[in-house]
Amino acid sequence: MATMTITVETQQESVAVKPCRFCGADLQHTFVDLGMSPLCETYPAPADLNRGEIYFPLHVYVCSKCFLVQLEEYESPENIFSDYAYFSSYSESWLKHADTYCANMQSRFGLGEESFVVEVASNDGYLLQYFVRRNVPVLGIEPAANVAKVAIEKGIPTLVKFFGTQLAGDLVSEGRAADLVLGNNVLAQVPDLNDFVEGLKILLKPEGILTLEFPHLLRLMEHNEFDTIYHEHFSYFSLLTAVNLLEAHGLQVFDVEELVSHGGSLRVFACRAEAKTHPLEQSVARVMEDEERAGLGAVDGYKNFAQRVKETKLALVEFLLKAAREGKSVAGYGAPGKSATLLHYCGIGKDLIEYTVDRNHHKQGRFLPGTHIPIHHPDHIQETKPDYVVILPWNLQSEIMKQLEFIREWGGQFVVPIPMATIL
Ligand SMILES: [Zn+2]
Repeated sequence: MATMTITVETQQESVAVKPCRFCGADLQHTFVDLGMSPLCETYPAPADLNRGEIYFPLHVYVCSKCFLVQLEEYESPENIFSDYAYFSSYSESWLKHADTYCANMQSRFGLGEESFVVEVASNDGYLLQYFVRRNVPVLGIEPAANVAKVAIEKGIPTLVKFFGTQLAGDLVSEGRAADLVLGNNVLAQVPDLNDFVEGLKILLKPEGILTLEFPHLLRLMEHNEFDTIYHEHFSYFSLLTAVNLLEAHGLQVFDVEELVSHGGSLRVFACRAEAKTHPLEQSVARVMEDEERAGLGAVDGYKNFAQRVKETKLALVEFLLKAAREGKSVAGYGAPGKSATLLHYCGIGKDLIEYTVDRNHHKQGRFLPGTHIPIHHPDHIQETKPDYVVILPWNLQSEIMKQLEFIREWGGQFVVPIPMATIL
């Protein structure tokens, strides 16, 4: 028996050790293990409900050499992103964010009719439309055909392709190098990070600017935002790691902005290292110091996260059990990708959250993956008058509370699950 046990352990270890997506070091430290969950952007239709779904592990590692927090790639990007249900244009605050960004970039870097802007993972053109309105020529690159189609119909030139060194090289050889390359919330979704970042550099004109937005790992950890971890997001970045990644590909980060979007994001500004056109802003050192102080510069700094995540689960489940015991009705609001992680990790089904609603009509009439909690039109809340509404996209909390202020008429209350279940 003893021999068998040893053999099994050896096999488990050899299965567990994978190379880091950026630096190639062996991944040996668990950041958090969230159990099994289905792909979060696949919303079953009524006809699919008896078919069963595939669950994948959400076991997150931190690299002890470069501190990239990462998930293995369990499903190919082609399967995840080819019919992606996320349409950016459905959030008002997100549109405003995009408009402001375009205005700022135009004035700061003097973009005009002679410039060329390329957005990688351009979604339905929600951002590029603001450059088009300002007469700045654009190109979107978007792998999800159904989403790209919406952009093209709006008059935004869009290539239905995955981005990497090959596509970047093709564009440059056609004379389409860019003055501005931007990638918002795409870095996390890239399986071959090194090829992607190298492609970004290739696509830049010698004096070109790159901006990347991604959720800030420091805020994810501070606010227990574990539900932003899902299979579509392979990597989670601190500024420390992002700077090293870009430097490894000849790109210099010269400025960084801290944004409130997605629970706390970073927008980094970079240029070719040899360009030296832009002075290094103090913001870069300041954010990196914050991260060092929080312990992100050593593997020990990542150790306590899993325990805090567990506390968040206990608080939410305690609230829902108490509400159920008291005979209160609980509905959800929103059907974001992050709800799949939250609900599966916490073991919450439709016995505890009866239904959810979403403004995106592509999701209405469908079901949340795995839990099969039905997704209705938002009017369903007015019709059923639940005692509690759990806001699943907590990053849009204030916008949603404003829209649903009417639930106060029947004594309804809002619940935010993260960082710790709170009744508002
Ligand atoms: Zn690494």
